[in-house]
Amino acid sequence: MSTKDLKFNSKTIHGGQAPDKAYGAVMPPIYQTSTYAQSTPGGHQGFEYSRSGNPTRAALESALASIENGNYGLAFASGLSAMDAVIKLLNPGDEVVSTNDLYGGSYRLFKQIFEKYGIAFHFVGMENIAAIEEKINDKTKLIWVETPTNPMMNVIDLKAVSALAKAHNLLLAVDNTFASPYLQRPLDLGADIVMHSATKFLGGHSDVVVGALVVKDKELADQLYFIQNASGAVCGPMDSFLTLRGIKTLHVRMQRHCENGEAVANYLKNHPKIEKVYWPGFEDHPNHDVAKSQMDGFGGMISFIPKGSSFEEAIKIVEKLKVFTLAESLGGVESLAGHPASMTHASIPKAEREKSGVVDSLIRLSVGIEDADDLIADLEQAIG
Ligand SMILES: *Cc1c(COP(=O)(O)O)cnc(C)c1O
Repeated sequence: MSTKDLKFNSKTIHGGQAPDKAYGAVMPPIYQTSTYAQSTPGGHQGFEYSRSGNPTRAALESALASIENGNYGLAFASGLSAMDAVIKLLNPGDEVVSTNDLYGGSYRLFKQIFEKYGIAFHFVGMENIAAIEEKINDKTKLIWVETPTNPMMNVIDLKAVSALAKAHNLLLAVDNTFASPYLQRPLDLGADIVMHSATKFLGGHSDVVVGALVVKDKELADQLYFIQNASGAVCGPMDSFLTLRGIKTLHVRMQRHCENGEAVANYLKNHPKIEKVYWPGFEDHPNHDVAKSQMDGFGGMISFIPKGSSFEEAIKIVEKLKVFTLAESLGGVESLAGHPASMTHASIPKAEREKSGVVDSLIRLSVGIEDADDLIADLEQAIG
């Protein structure tokens, strides 16, 4: 039986994996080496130099391909370096249509790095498919989607965007960091490239910075591999090992993230001092139906706005939290709280971020896998 036929919860553990050839090690050893002995020039056992390939990284890449239902995985030094490789498929003069409510670092990479090399980016609210189509012209090459969006938790209909991309012969790349493949598998919905900040749910333990790409198509995989090797932002062997270990418990962690997320979202929704809660699991969430049809759950990422609150008051709340740690990032076993306007989204101009709803008083939670009662009690004492 090929590991391709396994169900998701088995793929996280066995997908693309086989015991190590040398001694049968069940976990791939950390091949902490830069180079490999050759018997004669070119006479090697599949690896020549660790930028080009490393057995521990190869094991991770194969696991990534398996859990995203792709054929090829590529592991990078960070999520942003994985994105960087995707944009390097393009040429000066090319255009990209991107989600407007975007991870701050992704926006910075597009605007402050790639625009100066002559690539143009359009940012649109992709809940409205017509808004995407409006920005497509004969220079457009790529649609970049992040869903659920960060931090507003909008959900974008991947099947609809994929149909649009195919009609215009465009590549569709999806940042699947927030959902993780446990909740959503974009390649199955028609995407060409899936990207992850594996720093988040895939690694799951806040101990690595790693990025990933997964594709189905061999030619696209070859082009991305060429860029990965030529630009060199590869995932190291130790980080590959840790990410692989994280993936093995992805399904059990995600199950608890979803349960705790639902408990915390409902608590906040019923709180008299809370103005608005953004979580795609609510039936009155504007994209709830899309979320229900393309995701297998709603996750533990929640944003909220305290009533009548200001920049300063939002900061006071996040400072009072004790079980939630005030920190950048998300997707680890521990609950984190963040203030997007001053943290993750500070690199987006105020006017631009407020257009997509990232107001000064917005607080974002990454609900971890602790006991939900403790998380709610912590929020209770902080919100007061
Ligand atoms: C964190 C994150 C990134 C960037 O990934 P790094 O691993 O920090 O480079 C990109 N997209 C999303 C949605 C993220 O949360």
